[in-house]
Amino acid sequence: MNIPFLSFDAVNRQIKTEITRAFETVFDDAWYIMGKQLTAFEQEYAAFNKVQHAIGISNGLDALHIALKAVGVGAGDEVIVPSHTYIATALAVSYVGATPVFVEPDPLTYNIDVTKIEAAISSRTKAIMPVHLYGQACNMEAIEKIAAKHQLTIIEDNAQAHGATWNQKITGSWGHINATSFYPGKNLGALGDAGAVTTNDAALAARASMLRNYGSVKKYHHELIGYNQRLDELQAAFLRVKLNYLQEWTLQRQSIAAQYNELLKDVGDLVLPAVAPEATHVYHLYVIRTAQRDALQTYLQQQGIGTLIHYPIPVHLQEAYQSLGYAKGSFPLAETIASTCLSLPVWPGMSTGEVEQVAQKIRSFF
Ligand SMILES: *Cc1c(COP(=O)(O)O)cnc(C)c1O
Repeated sequence: MNIPFLSFDAVNRQIKTEITRAFETVFDDAWYIMGKQLTAFEQEYAAFNKVQHAIGISNGLDALHIALKAVGVGAGDEVIVPSHTYIATALAVSYVGATPVFVEPDPLTYNIDVTKIEAAISSRTKAIMPVHLYGQACNMEAIEKIAAKHQLTIIEDNAQAHGATWNQKITGSWGHINATSFYPGKNLGALGDAGAVTTNDAALAARASMLRNYGSVKKYHHELIGYNQRLDELQAAFLRVKLNYLQEWTLQRQSIAAQYNELLKDVGDLVLPAVAPEATHVYHLYVIRTAQRDALQTYLQQQGIGTLIHYPIPVHLQEAYQSLGYAKGSFPLAETIASTCLSLPVWPGMSTGEVEQVAQKIRSFF
């Protein structure tokens, strides 16, 4: 039996009737942009994320960009980002004309190493963008302290961690303004591109809301040089359906991770995910590490098991970022993780038998 890296079969079966009804509602209302579904989703997502304001955005990268724009980060500024992340975090910084300054990950959790942030702060630093990578919350208390001391803005990249917490406080509610993605494969995923910003600051919410819609509140009156980065009614309606299942699906991800933890302990040189005692992990990805990563991935592929690498090339070594002047060795920890990490299949509805089969093949490889 083949096991893909990700399957929507189970969740799609679960929600098909409701999704079809949501489609019909929007179709019949014949109002497709900036309508009732968006407003309702924004309220529901804000309630879920325990913030005053959520603003639907076209996708996660645009949400990061709008968050940076809303707080006024711009040309000549520096923004601290993790060296081990998806490129979107850095791209958003580049979009506003600022420079991403990379900080190495914590070797256990893979999230930004809070003990190394201060050394990266300069007189140009304006913001810190922690990424709750793979679904585990960053040490937000430490980041808050550093940000307060140096008067920096915090923008969380919460694309991978809907519902995760640090000391019981939910990710996406710590920073001044935060961004998330509802890309289909994310823990809360639309049926296309989607994202949001979240904040407790009414002024930032108003700015973000204007920026995503042509810099305008009143039609044909434009206060800012804005964008067309709206979340459409269909995606908002679909997300409303799926948000109701998010908690259940997160518990399933966590239970799959617990099974992997049990079945893969003491196997070869495998390093399993480590969760900080103050953090919860919502397992957007279940990432293991081994020196034999490429051979293991090839073996699993031959056995019909899909895996992915998040991410094979660190941002500082991407061709797009050659101009920053980094080379191999600039961020050794990010480079080591990139060459040893492997993401195993995990999705809501994945059966115990499927998890056992993946684990059994990994054991047989070693
Ligand atoms: C997915 C992701 C994004 C970007 O989201 P899109 O909706 O694909 O634009 C940003 N940051 C991280 C960490 C992500 O995983």
